[in-house]
Amino acid sequence: MSANIATRKRRGAPSRLLWSRLIVCVIAASSSTANTANGSDDELAYKIVIDAGHGWAKDTGGDPGAVNGTYYESVATLAIAKKLKTRLVENGYKVKMTRTAGEKDLTLAERCKIANDWGADCFISIHLNAAANKDAKGAETWRYANVGTTTKRLADNVQKQLIAATGAVNRGVKTTTAFYVLKHTKMPAVLIETGFISNNAECKKLHSAAYQNKIAEGICKGVRAVLK
Ligand SMILES: [Zn+2]
Repeated sequence: MSANIATRKRRGAPSRLLWSRLIVCVIAASSSTANTANGSDDELAYKIVIDAGHGWAKDTGGDPGAVNGTYYESVATLAIAKKLKTRLVENGYKVKMTRTAGEKDLTLAERCKIANDWGADCFISIHLNAAANKDAKGAETWRYANVGTTTKRLADNVQKQLIAATGAVNRGVKTTTAFYVLKHTKMPAVLIETGFISNNAECKKLHSAAYQNKIAEGICKGVRAVLK
């Protein structure tokens, strides 16, 4: 576990960008033809993996996550993830999704592998919360307990902008050593519980395009505050 934590600190996103910029500067300075028009921007773009939690879909079955009547967590997480992808791409980020439909056999290890193999700068997992108390509501952002500054800032800014964009009850940033995708990804990672599917009013909002857009906007603003 300690090796895992040390790796996180070494692989902070800002230093990666700085080195990329320095390398581009050196190449540009040494050869007038090396810096092509469409090559350098692409190299500098941060790489973000969006992980839509769970994997049920009508045609494939699989893991629905939490369920409230006809509302399935896996459906809302995918819809939010797609809206977030659109915004992040519009803002110049390179984005990879762990799933784009109801891939039912996608394990947590495979989700982490996608991000680790790609060398992503940031991993964002989208979930809906559930509780026995039907009145529980609001949004919270989770990060691994012992992490570097970038991850802390990412979690803080995502939570802050998510609340500002949605007006949801602020349940704050929470830390854990238990969540698999936070433990086994090698880059700054957050898991966002965007709201409670078990709260009937919040459940309906979480499955509406209008509210999903607000969530995506908030998360995107939080990312932009840190990965710039
Ligand atoms: Zn979930």
